[in-house]
Amino acid sequence: MNLEEYKGVFVFAQQVDNKLNGIALELVGKGKDLAKDLGTEVTAVLIGSDVMGLTKELAEYGADRIIVVDDPELKEYRTEPYAHALAEVIKKYKPEIMLVGATAIGRDLGPRVSARIHTGLTADCTQLEIGDFPINPIPGREQLHNQLLMTRPAFGGNTIATIACPNFRPQMATVRPGVMQKAERVEGAQAVIEEFNPGFVPNNKYVEILDIVKAVSDVEDIMDAKILVSGGRGVGSAENFKLLDDLAEALGGTVSCSRAVVDAGWKSKDLQVGQTGKTVRPHVYFAIGISGAIQHLAGMEESDIIIAINKDETAPIFDVADYGIVGDLNKILPALTEKIKEAKA
Ligand code: FAD
Repeated sequence: MNLEEYKGVFVFAQQVDNKLNGIALELVGKGKDLAKDLGTEVTAVLIGSDVMGLTKELAEYGADRIIVVDDPELKEYRTEPYAHALAEVIKKYKPEIMLVGATAIGRDLGPRVSARIHTGLTADCTQLEIGDFPINPIPGREQLHNQLLMTRPAFGGNTIATIACPNFRPQMATVRPGVMQKAERVEGAQAVIEEFNPGFVPNNKYVEILDIVKAVSDVEDIMDAKILVSGGRGVGSAENFKLLDDLAEALGGTVSCSRAVVDAGWKSKDLQVGQTGKTVRPHVYFAIGISGAIQHLAGMEESDIIIAINKDETAPIFDVADYGIVGDLNKILPALTEKIKEAKA
């Protein structure tokens, strides 16, 4: 493999039902930063049916170039045709870096494509930067420059590992949604658009979708919430989450939780914050009866303001909190909710 042939930062612009997923724009934003460090461009790869209309948004969020693979067979995500399309784009255009969102779709697509094109993939990254590898010089070993350094929690979140892919291209990573920042939207920004036909053959499409049943939820996605009222094991029971519902209602916020709460069956998994849940970045994050385990912090420590309520003053959550209240949540929450209602009245 001639590594020199591989140029540019590519991102998979995930869309579902002809709507771009937030991660697509986050990856364009991150890709732009990486491309700047490498003196190159960021290219979005848009795969789907009738998706040309989405190129405007990708360009306005910073894509320099957009490669569009448009085919009626790509209307719904299916592993085989999507993996074929992305692998063929990589073979033709030879990017130096290929980023995919660590969504359900990206986690299916990324590893399959990396195996097909024979390169490595670092899954579930929380940080990406361009730097030297090995990071610190090792006597007798060449230090390579301009490598993609991919950082992710490892060993159950007890350590943070930085991984590079020095011998193969592209350097591939899946990236957690909600961690990277979108770039500022520039109305009217233009990108170069190229259509690409990866040459489908019929047996690439062998899974037939008979029906799609969408989960119906009237709860806001916790990743979009500006105020999160998050409860942990300390809340004590599913019924006692009423105290958090009341506070969230008074504040116009949304309830979320720790994994202990999901494991206890008090709340559903889509409300879980943390390493194996969702990464959130609200303006205000209430951590109520949550101890602050590293796996929980991994999903919320970028919140603008963290307010912790815990009866144990040594709980690690207080290390990341901007404001802390030590005491029994059963007493504090009703009083707090009452005060907020009074203030709003
Ligand atoms: P606890 O640690 O039991 O803390 C409960 C807290 O409530 C205590 O600090 C206690 O002082 C306080 N409390 C009790 N009663 C009251 C009261 N009346 N008033 C005020 N405070 C009170 N965890 C996640 O949250 N998200 C993840 O995504 C996640 N992923 C994981 C992945 C792996 C691989 C592993 C190994 C673990 C993961 N965990 C995750 C689990 C994590 O390690 C912790 O076990 C979990 O976060 C603990 O949840 P908790 O803080 O609600 O409960």
